[in-house]
Amino acid sequence: MVRPYFLNMTSLILKPSREKSLLRRHPWIFSGAVAHLDGNAGMGETVDILSATGDFLAKAAYSPNSSIRARAWGWLDTPVDADFLRLKLDTAIHRRASFAEINAYRLIHAESDGIPGLIVDKYDDVLVMQILTAGAEYWKETLADLLIELTGIKDIYERSDVEVRKLEGLEEKAGILRGNPPDKVEITEYGIRFTVDIAHGHKTGFYLDQRENRHLVGQFAKDRDVLNCFSYTGGFSIHATAGGAKSVMSIDSSGEALKLGAENAALNGQASSNHEWLEGDVFQELRKFRDSRRDFDMIILDPPKFAPTRSQVKKAARGYKDINLLAFKLLRPGGVLVTYSCSGGVDAPLFQKIVAGAALDAGVDAQIIRKLSQGTDHPVALNFPEGAYLKGLVCRKT
Ligand code: SAH
Repeated sequence: MVRPYFLNMTSLILKPSREKSLLRRHPWIFSGAVAHLDGNAGMGETVDILSATGDFLAKAAYSPNSSIRARAWGWLDTPVDADFLRLKLDTAIHRRASFAEINAYRLIHAESDGIPGLIVDKYDDVLVMQILTAGAEYWKETLADLLIELTGIKDIYERSDVEVRKLEGLEEKAGILRGNPPDKVEITEYGIRFTVDIAHGHKTGFYLDQRENRHLVGQFAKDRDVLNCFSYTGGFSIHATAGGAKSVMSIDSSGEALKLGAENAALNGQASSNHEWLEGDVFQELRKFRDSRRDFDMIILDPPKFAPTRSQVKKAARGYKDINLLAFKLLRPGGVLVTYSCSGGVDAPLFQKIVAGAALDAGVDAQIIRKLSQGTDHPVALNFPEGAYLKGLVCRKT
């Protein structure tokens, strides 16, 4: 294909027959598929992706340090500029029109919203931005200005203090990006109030992906003794109490998170006698409960990522099996286990297999009564299956 000279820019040329995944519109171009760079490009700059025979495939952000050498912005040969990004952001924001009455949700979900490396979470009148890739970093200031223009929100906090940025050759970074956001913001989730520490909390401050699942747990919790493992700031615990749980014990290794959890319970007028907040390691605490024959009617397991990538899957599988096996043992008959994996390397069928193995080894029979995933504000683009990271099972011990 001969292109007019003014359209010719730096091109990343693929090896022969390495264009297949791009033709399926998967946005990642791995270094192993690249033959050479024709021209010069700095970190995050836009390049054309061409097949070995010179066909245009995509516009992409160049990431010279990463094994994901480029990420596609789009499949048309049109410029990537502020107007292009405005349309992308505006489209993603309009997809959330049904969230108008909800004051905390994910506004931009990176690759699945067609904007690789950009996460934006909305907490009431504050936006928290997380930039994960060289391409999104290159456009950071433009993206921040566009977000203000499109949402009318003036305060933006940046939480790009995540390790994966190293793979892109980027430093960790956190702080005020626009306006004057407070460190803490109060949000409401299905009528329940939470204080979110956007400056010091995990991720962008709150695990918004579990919003709908926390509500569901509340509906299952009536009259139950609940154990919430990996509780963070008490999301599931407070929903469970609001749903009529008899008692809730929350375990987390972070004392700070538990302190905010207790404050969140008080914010909702919940009696402190209903809650126990235990700072400890879930793997050890579950063993102590087993040894002291303590039991529960409902157990929630929402651990951090055990396997961010495929290479750690075996070790992760052992971790999931361990805590699920212990949880099945601690459940009373008829008890409910709500168990999650947010590991990219463990897909839904594997996770179900691990949980089944845990029940078998615990010597219990159980049924799946619900399959769960991340909320609808965390969509999964069909061309990007990696976006489906959160898997959950609600199991009943029979
Ligand atoms: N369910 C929570 C989010 C959980 S995130 C919510 O809805 O908000 C995972 C939590 O696990 C984090 O708070 C982290 O501090 C905690 N954690 C990580 N490893 C742990 C361990 N070994 N024992 C106890 N808590 C742990």
